[in-house]
Amino acid sequence: MLNIILIGAPGSGKGTQSELLAKKYNLLHFSTGDALRAEMHSGSALGKEIEAIITKGNLVPDAKMIALIENFFDNLPATCKGVILDGFPRTVDQAKALDEMLAKRKLNAVLIELLVEEKELINRMLFRGQTSGRADDTPEVIEQRLRVYHEQTAPVSTYYLKHGQYSAVNGMGEIEDTFRQIDRIVEYGC
Ligand code: AMP
Repeated sequence: MLNIILIGAPGSGKGTQSELLAKKYNLLHFSTGDALRAEMHSGSALGKEIEAIITKGNLVPDAKMIALIENFFDNLPATCKGVILDGFPRTVDQAKALDEMLAKRKLNAVLIELLVEEKELINRMLFRGQTSGRADDTPEVIEQRLRVYHEQTAPVSTYYLKHGQYSAVNGMGEIEDTFRQIDRIVEYGC
């Protein structure tokens, strides 16, 4: 199986690049943000809880997220050629839990971070907000999402750097340029 973990700040292009990778390598793309939004729009009690968190720009508790990913791995179709995780892990505890989940299933994964400057992240999210209909693509919530990113998600990169399974690409350019860099890492490891 070819498993890819894409990490990066909100607005760094994880979703776009995941879709391109999923298409090229026939992988299952799992976006935690999309899964949470689907639950939110279902109107369930859990969805309402999630909505209250997402619309403030905060993170859903680790235990819930880890259970969601565990459930995803437990229900992979037999034909699955590999997965792309988009939006997980977002905390060091999630990263540690993911390492355990992969090890338990004897799976390897390629981890890649998309690096994008803060000004560009804000511009992209504001632009997306014009059409996305996402309640969290607003100036106030974007500010909080970036604060949460710096406090809780940025340490995930350091965690993976220490474990020697870290690659990064410059995500500032055109979609195709970023994809070429990611693809080279997936194909040749560099
Ligand atoms: P995204 O679509 O990846 O930008 O995620 C949207 C929102 O979903 C985030 O701002 C969080 O509130 C929540 N979320 C997505 N993935 C996670 C995660 N791994 N841990 C906690 N919250 C998450």
